[in-house]
Amino acid sequence: MKLAVYGKGGIGKSTTSCNISVALCRRGKRVLQIGCDPKHDSTFTLTGFLIPTIIDTLQAKDYHYEDIWPEDVIYQGFGGVDCVEAGGPPAGAGCGGYVVGETVKLLKELNAFDEYDVILFDVLGDVVCGGFAAPLNYADYCLIVTDNGFDALFAANRIAASVREKARTHALRLAGLIGNRTATRDLIDKYIDAVPMPVLEVLPLIEDIRVSRVKGKTLFEMTEFDSSLCYICDYYLNIADQLIANPEGVVPKEAADRELFSLLSDF
Ligand code: ADP
Ligand code: MG
Repeated sequence: MKLAVYGKGGIGKSTTSCNISVALCRRGKRVLQIGCDPKHDSTFTLTGFLIPTIIDTLQAKDYHYEDIWPEDVIYQGFGGVDCVEAGGPPAGAGCGGYVVGETVKLLKELNAFDEYDVILFDVLGDVVCGGFAAPLNYADYCLIVTDNGFDALFAANRIAASVREKARTHALRLAGLIGNRTATRDLIDKYIDAVPMPVLEVLPLIEDIRVSRVKGKTLFEMTEFDSSLCYICDYYLNIADQLIANPEGVVPKEAADRELFSLLSDF
């Protein structure tokens, strides 16, 4: 199963991705998480450091794929999750889609792409141009992380449009939304009334999740020191269990931009 986790910058994609990856491992799956955000910190809470990116490694080896070993680019993270960072294109030049394409090509050369039960792509979704939409070409399911605010839902709607577009040519479904860092969900509910899709989970703002990033640990690792945090892991285990059950998901029909503005505003 290939998953693509999308959402606005800073919304909690990487935090959510890392914890879902560990949750899937806890359920016995072999998991690879691929960070596709130029920020290249997707897997930080799994490994505890910023691992070298595929693009940096390819550049260092002058794009000689045959000189690259799996251990040069695949790092083992907490809980048995394998980790890759695609890296970013040069700022102001190049394309995120190229980076993702090179990453998948290299993993295939290393016979690693079909080795896993689950591959999770963690992707920036503010701008879903052809490049940032590239991981959807490989995915069975898209998941969207959002809060209860306009900007994240606006980004979610753009991502939904990309899923609709890509689903024309291959079997891609939107598994649903993950509400994050929000105690309320009135705008999320308004949105899914207009654009029907499942909500897999809604997580509030939890100080221990913020702290987990600073400590470079997933919540699962933090429970080894503080078992009172297990309730947070349950959110991620619930998402993992829903994914393992191969949910039906949807092919969404996004709202028009103006419709979304009036839907999510008070005037
Ligand atoms: P993204 O990958 O979407 O850019 P991150 O996963 O890096 O976002 O999260 C951004 C920040 O928000 C991190 O410091 C993270 O610890 C924090 N964060 C994410 N989810 C929550 C939450 N539910 N409660 C509190 N802080 C959170
Ligand atoms: Mg991130």
